[in-house]
Amino acid sequence: MYKKEKADRAEKVALLLQKENPAPKTELTHVNEYQLAIAVMLSAQTTDKKVNQVTPALFAKYPDWEALASADTDEVAGLIRQVNFHKGKAQRIVAAARTVLSLYDGMLPHDMLQLMKLPGVARKSANVIMQELWGIAEGIVVDTHVSRISQRLGLTSQKDPKKIEEDLMSLLPKKYWRNFSGSAVLHGRYVCTARNPKCGECVLNGICPSAHKI
Ligand code: SF4
Repeated sequence: MYKKEKADRAEKVALLLQKENPAPKTELTHVNEYQLAIAVMLSAQTTDKKVNQVTPALFAKYPDWEALASADTDEVAGLIRQVNFHKGKAQRIVAAARTVLSLYDGMLPHDMLQLMKLPGVARKSANVIMQELWGIAEGIVVDTHVSRISQRLGLTSQKDPKKIEEDLMSLLPKKYWRNFSGSAVLHGRYVCTARNPKCGECVLNGICPSAHKI
């Protein structure tokens, strides 16, 4: 498909998803920047639902960066043991809390590259944090759901999330990045599911090359 044709389809997809979800928000439970950042770090390769099950006890014991920075990592791991890779994640969130205090005076930086200096924060997490907390879209969130629907919609043939993000950013004007990130995640989670996608009720079925073929 020619790039122009692909870009036209991408824009139609973005508009339809925007109509479906005009103001998408993360489903990670949080009440402040600290809680959102930690929940995002815990959510790698784990469902938001699982993360929401462990964070109340975690935040009750460690309510802020200071408390978490001086935590014992084994105790933290015990509190989050229901999430995948809990031991590594416990080490990284404690290390991230120490880094927020030592490098950034206890405040999360509003900057993608600075956020990515925190242990446990790769590009996808930095994108989510920037967009959810401050509405800043420097990129497009590409998780497993966005990867899948972008491939099914013929917007990318890449498998690597970074390359998928580059493809999407080259196809979509920046004004769509914020909404697309959130609405595509929700669409992939609830409609264009990995198995048995609900093509019959999908708002994209008129323009999707994979409609009714999976
Ligand atoms: S039409 Fe089907 S395959 Fe295409 S985006 Fe919708 S649910 Fe996914």
